[in-house]
Amino acid sequence: MQSVNIATIDFNAWRHNLSCVRAAAPGCYVAAVMKADAYGHGLLRAARALDNADIFAVARCDEALTLREAGVAKPILLLEGFLRPEELKLCVQYELQAVLHHESQLRMLEITRLNKPVYLWLKIDSGMHRLGFAPNRVSIVLERLAACRNAAVGLRFISHLANSDDPGDPYNCYQIDTFNNATQGRVAERSMANSGGILGWPETHFDWVRPGIMLYGCSPFKGGIGADQYLRPVMTLESRLIAIQYYSIGEPVGYGSTWRCPRDSRIGVVAIGYGDGYPRNAPSGTPVLINGQRAPLVGRVSMDMITVDLSDLPSINLGDSVTLWGRGLPAEEIASKVGTITYELFCRVTSRVVGVEVNNND
Ligand SMILES: *Cc1c(COP(=O)(O)O)cnc(C)c1O
Repeated sequence: MQSVNIATIDFNAWRHNLSCVRAAAPGCYVAAVMKADAYGHGLLRAARALDNADIFAVARCDEALTLREAGVAKPILLLEGFLRPEELKLCVQYELQAVLHHESQLRMLEITRLNKPVYLWLKIDSGMHRLGFAPNRVSIVLERLAACRNAAVGLRFISHLANSDDPGDPYNCYQIDTFNNATQGRVAERSMANSGGILGWPETHFDWVRPGIMLYGCSPFKGGIGADQYLRPVMTLESRLIAIQYYSIGEPVGYGSTWRCPRDSRIGVVAIGYGDGYPRNAPSGTPVLINGQRAPLVGRVSMDMITVDLSDLPSINLGDSVTLWGRGLPAEEIASKVGTITYELFCRVTSRVVGVEVNNND
């Protein structure tokens, strides 16, 4: 059955965006970040499209196991590391590398019996203040790891930027200095840059970069769009016009009667709503794209539908395809209208929307 709502996933765009990462951070290894079902784009799809990456990074053990069970042999990094001894054993069994960010994990590593050591990325809190060891604890942690048979030789250092969406924020400099000082004189590979660091702060590139949102074609910067950085949207979310109605000036449209026709109006009903992941808080005026023309959302977003004003667009017909975001309509624009970021828009798309792959070379 063909679903009315489709997320087209463009593999060429994915590969192109990965080549943009390589061009922006020449000589660096690339950890392709695929947590949360590859930002809602499909984890196994991402693994196929981004096969040229050097390692796949996911947040949690179950995401890594999904990759391994599908036959993915590429190195995998757990960004939150192992949470329980069973997960530590799974790291050995499935060859998962783990971020080590907390004393509880270090202790687990010291007391669990493993038949092979685990590759670790030691997380240093350079100022994000979410995960990681304080810089002044790094020496003692390294001593304990050197004495721990479960820690593989070849430890790497990792840290995360808090404000890289603003390339003018001096806190980025503070974090870079802190990370440099904490790792100074140690012979180990280092990783700091997310997409914002890759595109805005070459000093953060070090040995390994960790792109997420830019792989999916969006700008990591406040107020930016992917095209500014020659990125191409991977996901295009589309629905259809299932009704066209005519209402008189002053008549309300939708729940709560929050919007009234400012003139005699031609109103289109599109078969997508918050049950599909279109944000309920999208305000009147949020654009959709129909046959290359923009129409404004009017009234409240329902579970299964939205309404758009077609009064100025007489050429649009019942059954026409409607783009909510993607090719021709940057997701960044919708996110900004809604007061969120593209990351959340993508993650919110529900299983009711069917993914359709294009340019996947199958
Ligand atoms: C999500 C994540 C990234 C990727 O961030 P983007 O802003 O999407 O590029 C990189 N590193 C870590 C630790 C992350 O959690």
